Amino acid sequence: MESPPSFDLWARHRGTSLTDAVKWTMKLRSCSLADAMRYVLPVRNREHGWVQLYFDLGWLEAQEFLSAPLPDFVEPGSAVLLDHDSYTTPERCRGRCDAHRIYLYREGGSCPVCDGDYMLTTRGGFRTAVRTSRRY
Ligand SMILES: [Zn+2]
Repeated sequence: MESPPSFDLWARHRGTSLTDAVKWTMKLRSCSLADAMRYVLPVRNREHGWVQLYFDLGWLEAQEFLSAPLPDFVEPGSAVLLDHDSYTTPERCRGRCDAHRIYLYREGGSCPVCDGDYMLTTRGGFRTAVRTSRRY
């Protein structure tokens, strides 16, 4: 059985330099410059202006990050969530659930939170799922 979705948090980058985003990502993920650049600087990110700030969040953590101040290199209030397993970017998404600030890959696609099938927390190595959907 596949695991229900966790969430990635993206926000709109402001300005033209992604240097701050790379430095911030290095610190957050304790990763090398090369890895941080891989996260932040794929060609598609430069083109569409979105930066992935956090990944594989549970719903509870996602709400904390959505309500917390964003780093200076992104536009205030621009944070949105994506299904972690969708391997896509906000600008490629055709649907959206406004109630939960989740971008959906397909237009009219179903929102995991509205469906009651999502990862509640991924904190501390424990993954706790919410599953109320009748699909299971
Ligand atoms: Zn929803």
